[in-house]
Amino acid sequence: MRTESQYDVLVCGGGAGGIGAAVGAAKAGAKVCLVEKYGFLGGAATTSQVLAYCGIFQQGQEPLKAVSGVAEELLVELKRLGLSGDAHRSETTGNWIVMLDTEVLKLALDRLTQRHGIDVFLHTRCASVTRTGKALEGVTLAGMDGRKRVIAETFIDASGDANLAMLSGVDYRVGNLQGQLQALTMPIRISGVKENTRLNRKMLMALIEEYNRHGQYPIARKDGGIIIPLPISQDYWWMLVDLPLNDLSSHSFTEAEMTGRAMAHDYLKLLRNLPGFEDCYLVSTGPQVGVRETRHPLSRYEMTAEDLLQGRQRDDGIARAAWPIELHAEAGKPVYHSLGGPGYAHIPYDSIRAKGVDNLWYAGRVIGADDEAYGSVRVMGTAFASGEAAGVAAADYSQNSQEVNVPRVQERLRIQGALV
Ligand SMILES: Cc1cc2nc3c(=O)[nH]c(=O)nc-3n(C[C@H](O)[C@H](O)[C@H](O)COP(=O)(O)OP(=O)(O)OC[C@H]3O[C@@H](n4cnc5c(N)ncnc54)[C@H](O)[C@@H]3O)c2cc1C
Repeated sequence: MRTESQYDVLVCGGGAGGIGAAVGAAKAGAKVCLVEKYGFLGGAATTSQVLAYCGIFQQGQEPLKAVSGVAEELLVELKRLGLSGDAHRSETTGNWIVMLDTEVLKLALDRLTQRHGIDVFLHTRCASVTRTGKALEGVTLAGMDGRKRVIAETFIDASGDANLAMLSGVDYRVGNLQGQLQALTMPIRISGVKENTRLNRKMLMALIEEYNRHGQYPIARKDGGIIIPLPISQDYWWMLVDLPLNDLSSHSFTEAEMTGRAMAHDYLKLLRNLPGFEDCYLVSTGPQVGVRETRHPLSRYEMTAEDLLQGRQRDDGIARAAWPIELHAEAGKPVYHSLGGPGYAHIPYDSIRAKGVDNLWYAGRVIGADDEAYGSVRVMGTAFASGEAAGVAAADYSQNSQEVNVPRVQERLRIQGALV
């Protein structure tokens, strides 16, 4: 007998990876529950104002799609709500991205998950797990109404921070092999800029040079960082506030949030010296600071830099990683390495499977990848694709007597419109 709190697939985390997973599993016929600790879906896009999807298109003169399926359905929904959703060429990197608007995205994701009959639990955390041998049995959810236990056949960790894997007892590493974590960034949103203003980057760079002589928070991005107008609002999206992250303690995150806010206000004063920006003001620092890297849980295969640089194609590929390897070892100084082969590398099935647990999959930035490969596979476009594959694989596993069959998963993904 099935009760209300029994599911085929439970997804922890409502970011790009979790949305891909939940919708992917629902389209494959599974009964799905999606758990998200904030009051809206979207992950870093809505929690940290990361307002551009990378990885949906390959590098090159034309925007060639590497990711479709669930991501494509979302782009159509965004269009319906007035956002273009088209490929936009980044002025700073030349790569193809899709610009976002936070509020439109939140609504589009509500509609997408409702359309597919997914049980979404917002304001709810996956707080603990029960496991017998190599299988997870259930998760305790902590929400406004207290704690409740949910049973599922299969589980997907799309928490970005490997929270479900950690609770399940899967081993993990923190940061890179030396234990260093990539820098945090607090993207900020600015309004009040005069119409038809052209950013004078040279002047901004000179102001930063001057600020760095006496200013309280020296600026690592001496080129002024990413600063672009957003669709719909024409507010500006500015990435200049970079902070090191020493460890994953509450103390370090509290310090980063408070220092980041102080930096944002200080840097804004700088911006007001530019023509057109005299009356600009800070609209939002976002619900939380942008976190690039935390835990990497053990998977059955770790993608390598070589896999990506060679654009390695594989028989067990379940998704395409197309974003160049983007490394942020030093705050404010990203370095890019283009991908080889056809311009994308296959993500193998084993990199979305947890090591040591049979019914746990990974989606988004927690999939198996070494330090450098992580610089590519973590982006949100790719997270939709790894998520959809995890969702379809989990649904297939629960519908086929807990048997893994990669060709069948690939076939089901193709039928759903995903690019494999
Ligand atoms: C400053 C910055 C700039 C970036 N720039 C870009 C960019 O321009 N384009 C791009 O594509 N990518 C960019 N990235 C990378 C990208 O944002 C992330 O790698 C991506 O969001 C990963 O997606 P995800 O779904 O795996 O995780 P997330 O987006 O982090 O989503 C995870 C979700 O899980 C939820 N969660 C966590 N734990 C629990 C729990 N226990 N219970 C319930 N819910 C939980 C979180 O609240 C969150 O909503 C950037 C990242 C940063 C930090």
